[in-house]
Amino acid sequence: MKQIAILGSTGSIGASTLSICEQFPGRYTPVALAAGANVEAAFNQVVRWRPKLVSLATEQHADDLRQRLRAAGINGVEVLHGTSGTIAVASDPAVDFVVSAIVGVAGLEATYAAILAGKTIGLANKECLVAAGDLIMAAARAHQVALLPIDSEHNAVHQCIRGGTAAEVAQIWLTASGGPFRNLPAAQFQHITPAQALRHPTWVMGQRITIDSATMMNKGFEVIEACRLFDLPPRKVRVTVHPQSTVHSLVEFVDGSILAQISVTDMRLPILYALAYPERPASSLTFDLAQLSQLDFSQPDLERFPCLRLAYEAAEAGPAARIALNAADEIAVAAFLAGQIPFLGIPRTIERVLELTPAARPESISAVLAADRAARVAAEEVISRSATSKLLATA
Ligand code: MG
Repeated sequence: MKQIAILGSTGSIGASTLSICEQFPGRYTPVALAAGANVEAAFNQVVRWRPKLVSLATEQHADDLRQRLRAAGINGVEVLHGTSGTIAVASDPAVDFVVSAIVGVAGLEATYAAILAGKTIGLANKECLVAAGDLIMAAARAHQVALLPIDSEHNAVHQCIRGGTAAEVAQIWLTASGGPFRNLPAAQFQHITPAQALRHPTWVMGQRITIDSATMMNKGFEVIEACRLFDLPPRKVRVTVHPQSTVHSLVEFVDGSILAQISVTDMRLPILYALAYPERPASSLTFDLAQLSQLDFSQPDLERFPCLRLAYEAAEAGPAARIALNAADEIAVAAFLAGQIPFLGIPRTIERVLELTPAARPESISAVLAADRAARVAAEEVISRSATSKLLATA
């Protein structure tokens, strides 16, 4: 029986992981949960799974949960909060496997702690590898920890890459759905509203990642992730637009063979693959190839999707640029959702922040977090200055 910790248990990856635990009761059991701010969902998870340890976002959330557990007559569950609580969940001695699915740099410290504690990691958090890929990979090597990607594209590459040696890999192809604006003419991008951008054609996900899919920044982050995970230069990590989201990614070998991974668009499958690796347990997550009529592939348009270009540039530029890329994107996406900047203001803000970011190589997670905070401040200044100049322009 594998004892699982889930960082981000009330999010969509967390819920899918618990659904796998439900389907494989003899194999996987969640023993520690980091649940965030949703006390109701955390309470229901504790009632169902009785983990030994739960952590919530704040002391107030933790108090609320303790009170509800007492009222329900549930004892023996330790309730913690904050970053130290998440780290305790990630490094609990009873845990064998940590699913890292907290969105944003909030998941970084806990994931790093899990690696230092020697846990096998199922990685769904992109920011870990985008903002701190060098540190995370070095720590994983030093502690001989397996980092198994849960992100569907990287999971597909991980599966296909087993078909050859590292030296035999010519390049990899990450598939992109293209998002809701795949066919939108360039002239209409300026009118895109948050409601339109939140409607993703194939995947149901959290708000930030849905907007990142609409700008294709999500694919840009995935390029950077893939460079770190598979130790490849950016030019060997290609993107192909594949609207059916059926081929999850491909690996091209030096002899010209290309291996693709095809499966249902259901995150439970990459989660199961990571949990079970190197085994493949039988599951009901099957894909009916007989129903498949068409697979389309096309080149991404970097003119209409400048975020993807910015990500390739940051991938080449170095660690400071990658931290700034992620931080500026998070601030810009929030400003877009709040109606403060237009859709095209997202890449404009990020590009400006990248220009303002000096080259540097942070040597610790705290240095990464400091650079992340500085880039956020820079992004907020860029946004408020653009708002001021617009006011002056219309005055
Ligand atoms: Mg993905």
